Amino acid sequence: MAATIISGKQISEEIRQDIKQEVDKMKAEGFQPGLAVVLVGDDPASHVYVRNKEKACHDLGYYSEVHRLSAETSQEELLEMVHKLNNQDNIHGILVQLPLPKQIEEKAIINAISPEKDVDGFHPINVGNLVIGDDSLLPCTPAGVIEMIKRTGIEMSGKHAVVIGRSNIVGKPVSLLLQRENATVTMCHSRTTNMKEIARQADILVVAIGRANFVDASYIKPGAVVIDVGMNRLDTGKLAGDVDFESAKEVSGPITPVPGGVGPMTITMLMKNTLVAARRAYGLN
Ligand code: NAP
Repeated sequence: MAATIISGKQISEEIRQDIKQEVDKMKAEGFQPGLAVVLVGDDPASHVYVRNKEKACHDLGYYSEVHRLSAETSQEELLEMVHKLNNQDNIHGILVQLPLPKQIEEKAIINAISPEKDVDGFHPINVGNLVIGDDSLLPCTPAGVIEMIKRTGIEMSGKHAVVIGRSNIVGKPVSLLLQRENATVTMCHSRTTNMKEIARQADILVVAIGRANFVDASYIKPGAVVIDVGMNRLDTGKLAGDVDFESAKEVSGPITPVPGGVGPMTITMLMKNTLVAARRAYGLN
């Protein structure tokens, strides 16, 4: 039987419609969510991401500011910009596009963003709250993964979830969120010795390693849910996931494609975080 394709594009569209409705209501009452995006340097992929974020703000009726700074910007100059945005009442979310040029320490910038405006969910206070299970702004890609699974009607409680990859921005937070949903979670990484064996035990397999088409059908238990976070640009210019979709879909249950899977969810969750932050700032929650 052919596997169900989980369309991140469609789920994302549904969530955006809900967000738009809420924003329209807020605007009618005189409130507007505001997002500031700061881009330093000339990385072409970052420019595309920032343009997409700008467009999402426009489509949903947010106030938005995009600050494009030169590649020579110093850490002090960027910190000054962050402090200014921290104190700006019409800005509820601040996103500094990563990676940053080498003269700037990413950690110093992330730590300088006010945790209430940290819509990327990278500030240690938000990470700590995620670990202890308190309310926090969740990192966008991991939150998007969970939302996709939920909206597809897949039960996570009691399931064995295997996460391949342990980065701070994807693997670790995805594992914590799956655990919060009462899944039993196993994490794999580059030093895992029997990864295929472990992956084949997964009811839900999340892959975030940054290696094109690495996980094929031999890693997948028949019928398992497969979420592919990978976004790898091939020499041909085509985008590929970390999962070999063509072979995987022959054995898996519901599976995400690349593109059109996790990717569209990330910006949508950013917009959702900004809405949550704005509602809190206006005292509407
Ligand atoms: P990362 O920081 O490079 O981390 C990669 C992780 O994968 C590390 O934990 C590494 O293990 C593990 N790993 C690498 N090769 C492995 C292998 N052969 N077997 C097992 N584990 C292996 O990457 P990331 O930032 O998490 O991103 C992962 C992928 O997701 C990338 O393709 C990225 O482009 C994509 N991504 C997509 C979105 C989106 O919006 N869709 C957002 C963020 C990232 P060690 O810890 O042992 O080194």
